[in-house]
Amino acid sequence: MTIYDFYADTKTRPTAEMRKAVLNCQVGDEQKDEDPTTSELCARVAELLGKEAAVFLPSGTMCNEIAIKVHTNPGDEVICEQSCHIINFETGGPAAISGVMIRAIEGRNGIFTADQVHASIRPNSRYMPESTLLCVEQTANMGGGAIWPLEQLDSVAMAAKDAGLATHMDGARLMNAVAKTGIPAARYAQHYDTVWIDFTKGLGAPVGAVLAGSQEFIIQAWRLKQRLGGAMRQSGIVASMCLHALDHHVERLSDDNALAAHLGQEIAKLPMVDQVLPVETNIVIFDLADNAPSAAEVVEQLKAEGILTGAFGERRIRVVTHIDVNPAAGRVLLQGLSRLLGTPKTEEAFNDA
Ligand SMILES: *Cc1c(COP(=O)(O)O)cnc(C)c1O
Repeated sequence: MTIYDFYADTKTRPTAEMRKAVLNCQVGDEQKDEDPTTSELCARVAELLGKEAAVFLPSGTMCNEIAIKVHTNPGDEVICEQSCHIINFETGGPAAISGVMIRAIEGRNGIFTADQVHASIRPNSRYMPESTLLCVEQTANMGGGAIWPLEQLDSVAMAAKDAGLATHMDGARLMNAVAKTGIPAARYAQHYDTVWIDFTKGLGAPVGAVLAGSQEFIIQAWRLKQRLGGAMRQSGIVASMCLHALDHHVERLSDDNALAAHLGQEIAKLPMVDQVLPVETNIVIFDLADNAPSAAEVVEQLKAEGILTGAFGERRIRVVTHIDVNPAAGRVLLQGLSRLLGTPKTEEAFNDA
């Protein structure tokens, strides 16, 4: 059975060309800074993100957790949006690894305002935790891949910095935002002390994320990488695929964004769909109407047809586009959905992508 995998952009497999990039790469011991391919990757990502230095890590989760640990002391409070990855998908890492508390802001589709940051920063008091770090997610995953407008990203960072907080950007899908708006990644990250991008999301590599910041930050990040067992050996084997992704998979993110926009438009026409969150990048999140089967049932039935999607809550479904799904796969998804959720509300059948 052909599988149409819209569960996540993490499901991509390295292309034939990406696999070939491995064959001739130079390798060495990464822990000793002797892997030239990894060093090249870090230098390129540092430049892309407008930071002094960068470090290669096994995952985006480790980027977040190391950044939090470097920026805080136990007992501190970290300000995040309530739907973010750090709170929901890192198994309590900030508490377990850094001993910090989280102050969760309720934003709109993962995005919040400078006023909300002001209101969340603790006053100087011997009774209260100290607010020391602000985190944002660009794009906001559970916000339906929403893009932070640049002015808002700047204004929340300034609100934090004015109060002496450090700022960190989870840029797992930052490049999807760049593909959409044309605003350079370094500009988005300008007022953030630390920022990382994931190579295993839309960029389509099998392993790796790169965390960037000041020279001094990266020295501290390296100690934690070593402590957590994230230091590697001949990591050029995977870094070469990340370099290939930087060269060949960045521009094509626009295709993913376009397919998601199309799917969002068509899904909104289904009678048993209540709402689709605004689709700005490669993620479509929609809520089922009361008369529809549950999200788990819809996901299960689609799965029986080889169509993979994700249930995030009782009535909420997420669909993600990436290099391994194309408009033809999108049609299969829409047909599968309409069998379960009714035919489009308008007189028209689905439009083609
Ligand atoms: C996937 C993701 C992460 C974690 O990255 P991994 O490489 O899977 O560990 C963190 N933040 C966001 C927003 C993500 O989507």
